[in-house]
Amino acid sequence: MQLSERHPAGLFPEEIEAFLSEAGEPAYRARQIFTWLHRQAVPSFSEMTNLPRELIEKLEERFQSPWPLELVTSRTSADGTEKYLFALSAGGSIETVLLPEEERDTVCISTQVGCAMNCSFCATGRSGFQRDLSAAEIVSQVLFVQRRLKAEDRQLTNIVYMGMGEPLANYAAVLRSVRLINHPLGMNLGARRITISTCGLAPRIRDLADEDLQVNLAVSLHAATDPERSAIMPIGRVYPLAELLAACDYYTARTHRRISYEYALIDSLNDGPEQAERLGNLLKGRLCHVNLIPINPVGEETRPSAKRIAEFARALERTGIPVSIRRERGTDIEAACGQLRQRTLEGCR
Ligand code: SAH
Repeated sequence: MQLSERHPAGLFPEEIEAFLSEAGEPAYRARQIFTWLHRQAVPSFSEMTNLPRELIEKLEERFQSPWPLELVTSRTSADGTEKYLFALSAGGSIETVLLPEEERDTVCISTQVGCAMNCSFCATGRSGFQRDLSAAEIVSQVLFVQRRLKAEDRQLTNIVYMGMGEPLANYAAVLRSVRLINHPLGMNLGARRITISTCGLAPRIRDLADEDLQVNLAVSLHAATDPERSAIMPIGRVYPLAELLAACDYYTARTHRRISYEYALIDSLNDGPEQAERLGNLLKGRLCHVNLIPINPVGEETRPSAKRIAEFARALERTGIPVSIRRERGTDIEAACGQLRQRTLEGCR
């Protein structure tokens, strides 16, 4: 079997089966292991109580832990947001955020160590790109949080791929992780509860549309003209707005899902009423929704005043586009993408 996934948390039952047969173990153990990993979210192989001792020892020897990552530090915000910094067994560190609400518990997960997209306002981009995560590393973030929630009789209801990295630049592992999370023998979380956020890799958006999955797509737009967008998002030079929106239209046509366009408001840069109107005109007639995110300052950029944000939202609404303003969470714990990691790494120097 030729697989880049090496850890059981990244394998489907039939692939675990192949691994077991190489180790001389019976095939039916694969379903047991898969269920322990993905449904019970156990943090150690020794808790897989219906496995024989020798098999547990083999698993421990080969993989140490059911998750290829370890918690380094965590912070809890006054609003309940929890942020985790993980060290990966294969090297590097990533962040994961739990956003508890009354009706739902959402986890925000990372897909790469660092990011190559270099958006000017993003803390992750500043640290450069190290590597893609494996599906096991992506899914384990979810399992870790699921485990924590279980202890309080809660469980995850939503997953957003909005942490560190560009999910569609790590397409195969991200798709594998979605299908693992989706698997009926595992977490069995519906694709409609999963959102993948992208800076706009148009060809990959088309690929995703063809996957026959009902995942939500969020597209980071942040500007309504090519020159303005490319100035803060270099990817805009590779896939201009016309090409990006054509791919998004294809996504809607194939999946009938409403796309969420993310728009981070940066003071005096993209927050004027005429820019709101241009954004409205650009998106007019599309099955979509705009999510306004007051920027979390990490560099030079600053956040517009509450008044200016409200004016932008009103101007956009007047064009007929549904708008929401993202409620701020966890600013007291460096919850902006990449911030905790940056702070911790700096502290270690
Ligand atoms: N690479 C993907 C997903 C990760 S970023 C993407 O670009 O969509 C998740 C969202 O947070 C994106 O919309 C991104 O543009 C936004 N973001 C990044 N840094 C931010 C900051 N400092 N303040 C507000 N939003 C930010």
